[in-house]
Amino acid sequence: MTTRAVTAAVATTTDRQAAPARTPSLDPVAGRRTILMVEDEESITQPLAEALAREGFDSRVAGTVAQALEEADRRPPDLVLLDVMLPDGSGYEVCRTLRERSKVPIIMLTARGEETDRIVGLELGADDYIVKPFSAREVAARIRAVLRRSEAEPANEQEGPLTIGPVRLDSDRRSAELNGEPLDLTRKEWELLRMLMSEAGAVINRERLIDEVWDTNWYGSTKTLDVHVSSLRKKLGDDPQKPRLIHTVRGVGFRFSAADEL
Ligand code: CA
Repeated sequence: MTTRAVTAAVATTTDRQAAPARTPSLDPVAGRRTILMVEDEESITQPLAEALAREGFDSRVAGTVAQALEEADRRPPDLVLLDVMLPDGSGYEVCRTLRERSKVPIIMLTARGEETDRIVGLELGADDYIVKPFSAREVAARIRAVLRRSEAEPANEQEGPLTIGPVRLDSDRRSAELNGEPLDLTRKEWELLRMLMSEAGAVINRERLIDEVWDTNWYGSTKTLDVHVSSLRKKLGDDPQKPRLIHTVRGVGFRFSAADEL
């Protein structure tokens, strides 16, 4: 992947979008949002910043790991676009540190073909990823999707604790317990468990789980879902051959046991 390819992709979209921008009032995410771009290549950040401005976003740039953490602390952005390759370290470091401090939505910018990179990013708590070379229009669409999703969360979080059998989920604290003992779950494991438990007894198909826990634009390996289910089962003490809590419905999806089955 060359810098030129990225520049070309961004530039092409920029030309195409020289026509009047879409009406901001149609945007479901109201108000101007600030995007922090963590990327050291100006050939990417400059055209992208211009395109994002036309799409109704404010943006700032941080070119290093250190600048990114400082900037995110000083003026918390509404979303972070995060490159993996940075001059003083890795974007994963930034992702991990930001996740410890806040729930700010993070979209990783990754190189084509590096599936492992994408999975690592998602496991560290990134909300989505975009593969280079990308178009500015694609980036703006992903930003909107991720913002919509993250801003819809507070409503769900008022649900209060949910207990089914030995498992208790606390949405306010995003925590979980098994037989009264705290469970150490990753963000995605927690979200997956919440989704399964919120419709306990019903089968949720794979596509929907992937859409809602990862992203509607997911086109990575669906193995990630199986990896997360398997890890959840392990933490819940569920035997994959004879699961009591999370059942596999072959070819369809997964089902959490209804309260009266337990
Ligand atoms: Ca870079």
